[in-house]
Amino acid sequence: MKIGLIDADGHNFPNIPLMKISAYHKTRGDQVEWYNPIISGHVDRVYMSKVFSFTPDYDLPIYADQIIKGGSGYCIEKVGGKEEYNAAADRQLPEEIEHIYPDYSLYPELTKDTAFGFLTRGCPRGCDFCHVAKKEGRCSVKVADLSEFWKDQKKICLCDPNIMACKDWKELFDQLIASKAIIDFNQGIDVRLATREKIEGLNQMRIRRIHLAWDKPEDHLEEYFERFSKYYKRKNESGKVVYVLTNFNSTIKEDLYRIYTLRSLKFDPYIMIYDKEKADETHKRMARWVNNRIIWRSCERFEDYK
Ligand code: SF4
Repeated sequence: MKIGLIDADGHNFPNIPLMKISAYHKTRGDQVEWYNPIISGHVDRVYMSKVFSFTPDYDLPIYADQIIKGGSGYCIEKVGGKEEYNAAADRQLPEEIEHIYPDYSLYPELTKDTAFGFLTRGCPRGCDFCHVAKKEGRCSVKVADLSEFWKDQKKICLCDPNIMACKDWKELFDQLIASKAIIDFNQGIDVRLATREKIEGLNQMRIRRIHLAWDKPEDHLEEYFERFSKYYKRKNESGKVVYVLTNFNSTIKEDLYRIYTLRSLKFDPYIMIYDKEKADETHKRMARWVNNRIIWRSCERFEDYK
């Protein structure tokens, strides 16, 4: 078979399902390539994937007997400012593809020394602005062993929504520690579930920058961040980054409270703007002030940032 692949989001982050689909078809002896209507011509099947619902769909002609679309970008829609999940549009990979070692050669630069994957899926929290609980369930469950997508790469990028909530966290942490790879939890650690024991597990991993999250102003997480600081041991104090969601049910005053509190606790906030397209100038300015580390370190107060 001749298989065409389309990563509708662009090629800035490796699309994990497409890498698995590619690996599966290559093991069957099929020809797999990035789809281009001029170069590829007619193919047997095209797989299109997108992670983000705001990504515009692929708009060039597709010459294929079959087109299969999948990914959160096709089953999550923003309705009235909230993310809605359309189960009918959600396509799961068959088991024999889901658990195959990804074909990293699709993204040679991005995956040169980094493995990408999920050890767990699901999250018990069910935040309004997030589709994970609706799509993957309100329980964090182990879905893979590390060896499924990692073979001695120097770095591991984990996309798990909430590994701290998984009952098998210890087994998974042991796999990550044994890998001796540099670990990036790129979705943010749930600081409420970061018990002393789990933090001591993190201490045994090679982590350059840890990502945590403080998304909702009504969650008073000060004591959890204090606990985290107390037990999380690194040579360098910097490197603790906290995603701060703004422009979703929070006032600027509430945003600044989280930002200043995190600064006082020696964390670096990172502003996430919920709806970038509709965000006003104040939110954009706040993001520039916080997210540019040179500005953040040289200017303590938002009102002083010109
Ligand atoms: S804690 Fe994170 S992953 Fe879980 S529902 Fe909230 S935003 Fe989503």
